[in-house]
Amino acid sequence: MNFTDFFAASYVGARERFRRSAQAAGAATLEAFTHPEERGPSGEALTVDIAHLGDRKGSRQLLVISGTHGQEGYAGSAAQVAWLKSGDAARIPADTGVLLVHGINPYGFARGTRTTENNVDLNRNFVDHRKPHPVNPRYDELREHLVPAHWSQDQLAAGDAGEKAFVERHGADALFDTLARGQYVDPLGPFYGGVQREWSNLTLEKIVREQLGSAEKVGLIDWHTGIGERGQPFFLCFNEEGSAEQAEAARWWGADKVIGSRPNGLARPHYQGLVFYGVQSFLEGRQLAGAVIEFGTRGSATGRALRLDQWLRRHGAGLDDDVRQQMAANVLDALNPVAEDWRDAVWQHGLALTQAAVRGVASW
Ligand SMILES: [Zn+2]
Repeated sequence: MNFTDFFAASYVGARERFRRSAQAAGAATLEAFTHPEERGPSGEALTVDIAHLGDRKGSRQLLVISGTHGQEGYAGSAAQVAWLKSGDAARIPADTGVLLVHGINPYGFARGTRTTENNVDLNRNFVDHRKPHPVNPRYDELREHLVPAHWSQDQLAAGDAGEKAFVERHGADALFDTLARGQYVDPLGPFYGGVQREWSNLTLEKIVREQLGSAEKVGLIDWHTGIGERGQPFFLCFNEEGSAEQAEAARWWGADKVIGSRPNGLARPHYQGLVFYGVQSFLEGRQLAGAVIEFGTRGSATGRALRLDQWLRRHGAGLDDDVRQQMAANVLDALNPVAEDWRDAVWQHGLALTQAAVRGVASW
């Protein structure tokens, strides 16, 4: 097996590969939810594709999502396709189903960017927008240092200096928390959670309600990239500390990996509006256990690529084509490295972790 059996070179290619593999694996449910307004860069339809395998009405279900952060969808898609091609779909234990959701943020996936059509970080969007939005108390202090007006060494160095001063005042954990917890005040800034539910958010609710109506216990994998050691899985379990659900996720994947993980060696940010919390609310009290699983890429240097991604969203249209293409390739390579060893590690770990989750959910 080669990584090219599972990875695709484009959003359209990933979609096709997913649908073909799901069909070959005998998926009884194979549906596409088409974005009503947006299209991809070549005019292609943007869809969220789902495949439901095994016992779709079983009391145990595993939900596997790719592409919450658009361009991270390449790795998640490859993990999904690797499982579909493994033959395991024919060996799912009784009373258990596996629901694969491909490209939940298709706008970002197709355009090689993190956020949605509204520059919303989908993994910060699942808050109750009817209530006052969560406050990020130090965001304003950091705001001017995050995305420079010009992508130049001078301005980037000035931004770094601003961050360094912030760390001296508040510490490195506070910097990471302020950056990554989510903010609801700056629509052009990073980690913006939006002020209303994104189409992807509404679509995920529809999928969960339609497909997981008879589930009593649900496992979740939300595939991401960018945190952790290069090519290695890194777990962010959002079940409550010490809860039975957290213990369950630890049983599937190992307590040393699931409990007490520190992204980039730092305290975990007070993340707001995660997909995990959205799924939890859609399940209305039924049990949910699982994690965001990341694959490491550039370590803490990935942060600069996230910034460049934001910068390109603001200024990319005005750039020379050749320059823009190189910058976009830099962003994409930071979240979806081309290197063979990285891609092989992703599909192999992805397959093994999915298999462990299927076994785990079935015996929960
Ligand atoms: Zn991500």
